Amino acid sequence: MSAIARNIAIVKSTLPPHTRLVGVSKFHPVEALQEAYEAGQRIFGESRVQELLTKQAALPTDIEWHFIGHLQTNKVRQIAPFIGLIHSIDSPRLLTEVEKEAARCNRVIDCLLQLHIASEETKYGFSPDECRDFLATNAWREMSHIRIRGVMGMATYTDDESLIRSEFASLQAFYREIKACHFADAPSFDEISMGMSHDYPIAIEYGATLVRVGSLIFGDRI
Ligand SMILES: *Cc1c(COP(=O)(O)O)cnc(C)c1O
Repeated sequence: MSAIARNIAIVKSTLPPHTRLVGVSKFHPVEALQEAYEAGQRIFGESRVQELLTKQAALPTDIEWHFIGHLQTNKVRQIAPFIGLIHSIDSPRLLTEVEKEAARCNRVIDCLLQLHIASEETKYGFSPDECRDFLATNAWREMSHIRIRGVMGMATYTDDESLIRSEFASLQAFYREIKACHFADAPSFDEISMGMSHDYPIAIEYGATLVRVGSLIFGDRI
């Protein structure tokens, strides 16, 4: 068994049945993804468009590709034909662009709203109030080529477990709030993407349905 296969098996053994593993393969070569694929991994997360396009062209077609990084509107067109889930919708403008490009491809693209939950300044995402205001406009209800599946967030990068817990708890509470207010009749609003290599076991406790694990599977990025 390869190291990558072993790492995947270890992570998977800790996941509850309702939580899926996104193998975050950014900065790792195609060979590493191929190894993960042979170990049964089918969902891969990438954060750069060019890198994603190169890998998508080189690897099997039954892979579900997720985009997890900051996405520029002028690059949406390149991934729209095949992307399985965009975790990182961080503005109304980006969602509008995804709607437009998905329509061009005759697709419905699944999206998550990225929330800024960390105390760090540097992370992208809606603040809870910006997100509430956007949902209240109901503009997204007219968009028939996107489907809002849930929320995504990143906790502060810290050893302070209580801070990580409070941030994941706040994302779970926010998910429940907007589900009740705006998606009560949408069973497909069912995803909470949170948790990375160092904090995914905590994220699971707060209802993560997608964990985004990179270095624990593929090793350190160069
Ligand atoms: C890189 C990245 C991850 C994975 O990080 P690891 O610490 O390597 O598990 C998860 N989510 C996002 C948004 C990332 O950019």
